[in-house]
This record gives sequence, structure tokens and C-alpha cells, in this order.
Amino acid sequence: MSSLNPIKATDLEDLAPRLQSVRRFIAQAAADAGRSPSSVKLLAVSKTFSPERIQAAHAAGQRAFGENYVQEAQSKITALASLRAELEWHFIGLIQRNKTAFIATHFDWVHTVDRLSIAERLSNQRPASLPPLNVCIQVNISREPQKNGVTPEALGSLAQAVAALPRLRLRGLMALPKPLVQKSAPLMTQPDAQNEIQEVQCLPYREMYRLYCSLQEQALELDTLSLGTSADFKAAVLEGSTMVRVGSAIFGNRAN
Ligand SMILES: *Cc1c(COP(=O)(O)O)cnc(C)c1O
Repeated sequence: MSSLNPIKATDLEDLAPRLQSVRRFIAQAAADAGRSPSSVKLLAVSKTFSPERIQAAHAAGQRAFGENYVQEAQSKITALASLRAELEWHFIGLIQRNKTAFIATHFDWVHTVDRLSIAERLSNQRPASLPPLNVCIQVNISREPQKNGVTPEALGSLAQAVAALPRLRLRGLMALPKPLVQKSAPLMTQPDAQNEIQEVQCLPYREMYRLYCSLQEQALELDTLSLGTSADFKAAVLEGSTMVRVGSAIFGNRAN
């Protein structure tokens, strides 16, 4: 992480309408799936964006923000300390062992737990003055060799072990499936192509929903499926996502 994305006055003016249109899209996707719009929460992914933009999003009614890098998050959480009670900070990046104390102390949620040793550290380091840390287990749903996340086969035993930790509250599952189209590829705009893309985007999310239901059948009380980004949140909502993690559609493209 070299530096934050530079900011122009127009970026702040654009933010409220962008946020509004993302909310409308989510509500429409929920309606299409026969679900209530309030059943899908919007997590605004603010990585690489400045505290000013987070503040503008907060002014437009956004409360939950997602960050991927501890050092970067540290400076933003400090800069926005006066708003702390009104913000919900979600950690959605790779968890390094030596950063668990900071995460356990300063975040409200962690979406990327995929090992028991990390979960135990987070539980041990969660301050007694705070409520239990909300966690989701990350699943490597596309089975990519280099990707984080537990395999679907190992999920059940990890979930039971994490749910038993005293200072964590297991809320559900998270996944970031393998992207369908490379960012540099031209977007297909034909309606047929869009439908085809959406069908394929749905498949890993459908599998996540099945895993989620099977854990609920094992008596785990879960309420969160953290699925979907700017590229595919419609597909994720159609398949049961309860929390979409949207960055660029709200804040603009990331330069780094
Ligand atoms: C960056 C990121 C997102 C948001 O991606 P956008 O394409 O900007 O919407 C969501 N989830 C995770 C884990 C991320 O790292």
C-alpha cells in the first residue's frame, strides 16, 4: 500500500448519488429474488480511499466500512475517531498473525477467518470491555490454489471450533469467487451476454448457500452470508447473500 487514491472535490459530490444507486440496485435484486430489501446489508469497501470519502459516505447514511490492510485501516480509524460510535469497521483482508491484536481491538467484524490458530488469537485478544468480535469464515469456494479460505470439506469442523471460542461470535460465511472476466477485458453489454454472465456468477454463490444451510442444520446459529462485490452483487443477492461488499461502484476505480 503506497498511498491513498487522490481526491477531487467532484469525487465527494458524486459519492452520495453513487451510494444511492448501489442501494437501489441491491433493493431491486432483493425484490427480484422475493426477498425484503432490508435483508441485504451494504458493506462499503473503502480500501485505498481517504478518510474524507468515508466521512462523505457516512454523511450520506452509510455506516459499515470494509478495510483490507491493517496499517491503512489504523490511520483511518484514528482520523475518524470522533465518528467511532457511528461506524462499523469490518476487516476483509488477509490476517497476519502479528496483526491480530490490532484487529481484535479496533474492528467490529472480521470476514476472513480461515484457520483455528488465527481465530484463537482473535478470541484471546478481544478486549473484555467490548462485545464478542463478529466473525465470518472465509471459504475457498473456487478451490484456487493460492487463495485464502478453508476448503468446503474442512469447513464443518472449523465452524464448530470457532463457534466455541468465548470472545468470538460466529455470524456466517464469506467468499470471493474466482473472477469471471479479467478487469482489462471489454465488458459484454448485450443483454444475453449479461444474463449468461450472471448465471455463471450465481454458481459459486449457490454452493455457498448450500454450505451455509448445512451448518445451520448442525445447530449453528448463523445470520450472515458475506457474498458479492461491485462486479457480481446482483448474482450474490439472488443466491441469498445477506451482506454485499461493494467498493468501486461506490468510491470509484482504484488507482492502486
Ligand atoms: C476489494 C474487495 C471488495 C470490493 O471490490 P469492488 O470490486 O471494489 O467492489 C470486496 N471484497 C473483498 C474481500 C475485497 O478485497
